[in-house]
Parts: sequence; C-alpha cells; structure tokens
Amino acid sequence: MIRPVEKLVRAAEVTEGAGVAVHRTIGTPALKNLDPFLMLDHFGGSDPDEYIAGFPPHPHRGFITFTYMLDGHMEHQDSMGNRGDLRSGGAQWMKAASGVIHSEMPKQTGGLMRGFQLWINLPAAEKMSDPAYQEFSPQAIPEIEDGPVRVRLLSGRYAGRRGVIDDPNTDMHYLDVALGPGNEFALPLAGDYAAFVCVYEGGAATGSSDLPQHSLAVLGEGDEIRVIAGPAGARFICVAGKPIGEEVVQYGPFVMNTRAEIELAFREYQSGQLVKKKAAMTGVRKGGLTTGDTGSTGKTYF
Ligand code: FE
Repeated sequence: MIRPVEKLVRAAEVTEGAGVAVHRTIGTPALKNLDPFLMLDHFGGSDPDEYIAGFPPHPHRGFITFTYMLDGHMEHQDSMGNRGDLRSGGAQWMKAASGVIHSEMPKQTGGLMRGFQLWINLPAAEKMSDPAYQEFSPQAIPEIEDGPVRVRLLSGRYAGRRGVIDDPNTDMHYLDVALGPGNEFALPLAGDYAAFVCVYEGGAATGSSDLPQHSLAVLGEGDEIRVIAGPAGARFICVAGKPIGEEVVQYGPFVMNTRAEIELAFREYQSGQLVKKKAAMTGVRKGGLTTGDTGSTGKTYF
C-alpha cells in the first residue's frame, strides 16, 4: 500500500541565527514535532541579505543536527574543536548530546546558498552522552542514477546501497531525489516509520495529493513511498525514521525529556558549564542566553 499524504504543512517563515531567513515546517505550531524529528529548516536563497549574517555561536543539547547543503559554502566551528567546510552537495552530522556550542557562517558574499537542517531526537539514554561530529564531502555521498531518476543517498538504504550516515536509534533514511518530468520514485518502507517528503524544486504528487514547494507532506501508514514528478520535473527530500516514543520537552536549542532537565541545561549554559567535552574555541560567548543564541527567534517552546 502506498503511503498517503496525512497532513500538508505549509512552511512558516522564521528568522534564525543572526538574521537568516528560513522556511520551517517541523517545529512550528502546525507540526510541533514528527517523532523522531524535532525540526526542519530550509534555509538560504539567492539574496545575500537573507543569509550573510549566518549562525554565530549558539548551544545545543539532547539531539542531533543534520545539515545538508544544496548550494553554497559555510564554515562550521564547534566546542569539540572541529572546523569544517560545508559545500554544495555535502552534509554534516553533529550529535550535540550532552552539549555543544557551534557556529555556522557563510563563506560566500553572493550567489545562491541553500540547504536543509534537520534535528533528530536522541533517546533519554543518549541525551547526556559525548558529542560527536562527522562531515561528508559531496563526493562521499552515494549517487544512484537510473535514467531520469537520480537519488543522492545520505542515510538509509536504496537500490541495494547504503547512505553515509548511520543512526541506529532511528534507522533514519534521508534521500535527495531529482526526477525528470512525469517520472516516478519508489521506496519500500515499513509501516512504523515516520516519513515525510519536502519538494524544493518543480512539483510532484503522491497518489491524488499534490506536493507543492515550501510545504512538508507527512505520510501516513503504508509500506511504500511513491512520488511522481509534474511536467517541470521535481527535486525533493524524502526522509523517514523510527519514532523514539519518549516525552519531548523543548526550549529553543535544548531538547530533553523533562522540564527539570531543560532548566538544568539553561542554568549550565548561563554559567558556562553546558559543554562537558571541550576544546578551545575562539569567539564563544559565555553567559546570558540572548535571542541570537537561542537558535530561534526567542520564542518559548513550552
Ligand atoms: Fe546550530
């Protein structure tokens, strides 16, 4: 059975970091989370004013951030001592777990910059584990081309291949798919996985439901995902994962299981104790959690 569209979530326009325009779908009032996924931002554009301010140092605790760069060039630095270059077609997996402070700043002054950032939850047993960081060059990501269907396999399994990211907690699948006009993509997927499709170029449909751009289609129960491109072709991400099934308590950049754990994260951040596994990092501010540091517009998520 083909998974039908259960819910179509239109992206909310949000200002992130120091003033970056993002389209947010997961992590909005319309879709607070989609267990195991906590947030999905589609960032960037062709106007440098929309991205040039970047994401100066800010904290995370309790989950994984996964960034997929479609176009452009960003530099990453973090409190583990990692420095990374994120380029068109590359990806970055950061397990913030017990606590990371990082920055993501554009390394370009013009032209197109765009990508997706997905937050993946961690089970309680791993929320305070050591952080970890992995970066993948565009060349490292398997690309499967079958005529007018092209799949970049970031995570999970497709056509007998495996992606570069392994998330044992959620068995995440993350595919970037390009379809020619009228062509079809199919992915077998067990019923208990949460799944969504987000079209970012062209147009597509699944079953009788249209999949417009700047919207996220949450897929319902079934055992297969099928997407057919419209007359202009389509590019989209198709993402799925096993739910964790635990309580989610979020305050901006901290996602834990209880309110007390969030309050502790907040106190630890304010006193410079958030990061448990540290390396020297220049330019990290300690102390007050201001709007620019929350990884959000300062909204309360309770
Ligand atoms: Fe971040």
